[in-house]
This record gives sequence, structure tokens and C-alpha cells, in this order.
Amino acid sequence: MTDQQADLAPMPEDWQRCLAIVAHPDDLEYGASGAVAAWTDAGREVAYLLVTRGEAGIDGIPPEHAAAIREREQQASAAAVGVRSVEFLDHQDGVIEEGLALRRELARAIRRHRPELVVTLNHHDTWGPGSWNTPDHRAVGRAALDAVGDAGNRWIFPELVGEGIEPWNGVRWVAVAASPYPSHAVDVSSTLDRAIASLAEHRAYIEEISDRDPVAYARELLTGFAREAAARFGGRLATTFELVSL
Ligand SMILES: [Zn+2]
Repeated sequence: MTDQQADLAPMPEDWQRCLAIVAHPDDLEYGASGAVAAWTDAGREVAYLLVTRGEAGIDGIPPEHAAAIREREQQASAAAVGVRSVEFLDHQDGVIEEGLALRRELARAIRRHRPELVVTLNHHDTWGPGSWNTPDHRAVGRAALDAVGDAGNRWIFPELVGEGIEPWNGVRWVAVAASPYPSHAVDVSSTLDRAIASLAEHRAYIEEISDRDPVAYARELLTGFAREAAARFGGRLATTFELVSL
């Protein structure tokens, strides 16, 4: 093993509850859901919070129809990796505003779920050199990182305490999926098939962007990502995160 092969550290495992906060249906399925399956296999609780229903994601299906389809597909993809709790906020897909209103909603969810680990999607400007990220991912990722602090401070959004929602300052890490600066990884060798099944559940979306069968599309893509990560994780198929410790 070379130094380069070992440069991703294993994710911490001394935790019980995770809340994953992302903008759209399918955001967690392009890699992170393999880790989610490993976590639920180990008896940990993982809940999903989607800020939109991804209704603007399919050119051929108007948003008023796409929302219900994508919500159903997200429920099925969560079930494929052992997640039963899937909640949706009612932001409009494509035009999520980063700001106090979103931070308040995310802080409320963090206080209710009381996670030790928060997962979100890449909040950086790009996916890597030359590949621009989208505004919803930036807004939600940054708001999720900010909301962890908000959730722990009773004097920020005091109206939440008025609703009977007490502060929660037990979040120890935020793990950013699909970050261009990964620091940690989770072995997905025993869960890759379920990760593939979870992505393939987003059938309406995959049929929009690809001519391939959804399972074949998901298998090729996620196997490629997992092999890329393996080169930096001792040869083990993996999915990566940028870990922010708090
Ligand atoms: Zn997305």
C-alpha cells in the first residue's frame, strides 16, 4: 500500500443517529447511500430531510406532476438502504434561498432528530476543477453547516424554544458527500448493490438524463465512483466524505 492509497481515513463509528439534509431527491443516491446502508446494517438510525421534491428536474414532466413522482421515488430509494424516515420541506426546486428562513427550518429539524452526525451534499462552488456546482446544493450545504450551530444555541431562533423545541448541541460532525476535498471514506463493498438499487429507484429522472436501463446506469456510475475512492482507501470499494468536526 502506498501513502496515496491510504490517504482517506475511516469515518467515525461511535455514534447512533444521523440526519441527512439535501436539496433534492437523488442527491444522496449518487454515492452516499452506500454508506447509509452500512450504517443501518450496523443498527444506526438514519433519517432523510429533503428541502425540495426535485420537481424542476425533469424537462418532460411539469413540476406539478413531477413532485409526487420524485417524492415516491425518494421514499423507495431510502427504503432500499434501510431508511424509513423521509421528510420534505416545501422549498421550490432550483431557487432555494440560503438565509435565515432555511437555517431556522434546518435547525428545527436538527433539534427534533438530535443527530450526532449530519450528512449533506457538496456545498462548494464546484465538484472539482472546471465543474460548476448548482445553487441549490451550495445553499442547502452551507445552511446545513450553519444550522448545526444554530440548533445548539437557545438564543438563536428563540421562537423554536417557544414551540417547545429545545436546543441540541450533540452534533459532532458534518459529513459532506461528493465534496471535491474528501477526507474520509466508508467501505461499501458489502452495500454497493443496495446503493445501486437505491439510485435506480430514481427511474423518472434517470430516464430523462440517460438512454440506459436505470440499473445498468446506476451500476456503471456507482461502481466507477467506488473504485476511484478505493485507490485512496487501501483498495476497498468506498464512498467519500469531507468530514467537518465540531
Ligand atoms: Zn441535487
